[in-house]
Amino acid sequence: MTLTEKILARASGKGHVRAGDNVWVKADILMTHDVCGPGTIGVFKREFGPQAKVWDADRVVIMPDHYIFTADSKSNRNVDILREFVREQQLRYFYDVIDDPVGHWVFDPSKGMLQRQYGSRYAGVCHTALPQKGHTRPGEILFGTDSHTCMAGAFNEFATGIGNTDAGFVMGTGRLLLKVPETMHFRLEGKLQPGVMAKDVILHIIGEIGFDGATYRAMQFDGPGVSELSMDDRMTIANMAIEAGGKNGIFEFDAQTKAYVDHRCKLNGTLAEYDPVERDRDEQFVYELVVDMSRLEPVVACHPDPGQRKTAKELGALRLDRAYIGSCTGGKTSDFLDFARIVRGRKVVIDTFGVPATPEIVHDLQSTYWDGQTVWAILVEAGVKLTENAGCAACLGGPVDTFGRMNTPLKCISTTNRNFPGRMGHKESQVFLASPMTVAASAITGRVTDPREFL
Ligand code: SF4
Repeated sequence: MTLTEKILARASGKGHVRAGDNVWVKADILMTHDVCGPGTIGVFKREFGPQAKVWDADRVVIMPDHYIFTADSKSNRNVDILREFVREQQLRYFYDVIDDPVGHWVFDPSKGMLQRQYGSRYAGVCHTALPQKGHTRPGEILFGTDSHTCMAGAFNEFATGIGNTDAGFVMGTGRLLLKVPETMHFRLEGKLQPGVMAKDVILHIIGEIGFDGATYRAMQFDGPGVSELSMDDRMTIANMAIEAGGKNGIFEFDAQTKAYVDHRCKLNGTLAEYDPVERDRDEQFVYELVVDMSRLEPVVACHPDPGQRKTAKELGALRLDRAYIGSCTGGKTSDFLDFARIVRGRKVVIDTFGVPATPEIVHDLQSTYWDGQTVWAILVEAGVKLTENAGCAACLGGPVDTFGRMNTPLKCISTTNRNFPGRMGHKESQVFLASPMTVAASAITGRVTDPREFL
């Protein structure tokens, strides 16, 4: 069996499963957020009754992160709905925007978009926050009401996005009927060269198979190259499995996975036991691709879908209006550090927005010093509009007052993961997906730029 099949077999209590089998699996964690949480709660109450209790109050994780820093009252209200549900159900893991358990969330635009407005428990973008808060464990099943839930596959678990109806069912029963996906095999070899990043690996792969090339399939990433990738790198790659239509993305378990997970579970007091899955000799794949990472170069996914791959060099004449660094995929500490290595001592020439994915990343950037200056200060000095209000922000557009949202038909180069029309705001705007280094280099020149020009 493949890694995915092994996890699904275990979670369904079977000795063996095959692609195409329909199996009932037990959920380990159900995650939801402010956009889908209220709808999921509505389905749960409608189907299980107003007095129903969730199947396990320690396994439902609620992370508001999407439409948070906006004056839109309906969006603010969604966070309150989550808080009321958490109180009613006595859920253990709720990463509220405010500290008052009976309060109301109201964003105050008069304080501006840059200054922190959240309380002490807020965790930021769910997919980046889940591992930070110790909720991703090898061998487990994670369901989330968000398509990029597949990011947790970096930790050798089966993680996939589900809709509100399925999530309402999981909330009530802790189970879900799944068709076992076929597995595509991506063997990673070699080592990334300077200026080339994990984002280039996944954009290369999606460029090979197309934005629907992995529809309802598992994408398994393994091989000797994986040990050269950090956990942040693996998260970037697994995150974008869905951009090829993948059901999930999954990595092998190794010492790095163990060190990360053990540290985070201990730090947060979450469940510390887990059982990773290892590769079998008899794996059956529907597709195989060997990627020699040492031969990759910086690439960009052009408007209007993540499969429109071109090299950054080929696009050198394309002028841009905006640059954006942020999101679960591209707003991690390591992403900002690589971005800062390029812009340090230089100035951006187009509007450049920076949104750390989580408060922990804000803290990292404000407490990491390079020659006596924080990375945060280096970015601000380069002209980046950097907000402390960690969250999804303009990655998916959001209400019109969302930080970084494109309200006119602009061209933006971005470290985010999705670029279908209208994704970051105006329906005629265009989004070009690239690595943090490519976005940084492009922000400095105002046109798509291969970051190796600055190394
Ligand atoms: S940062 Fe973007 S891709 Fe990630 S969860 Fe938020 S909206 Fe989705």
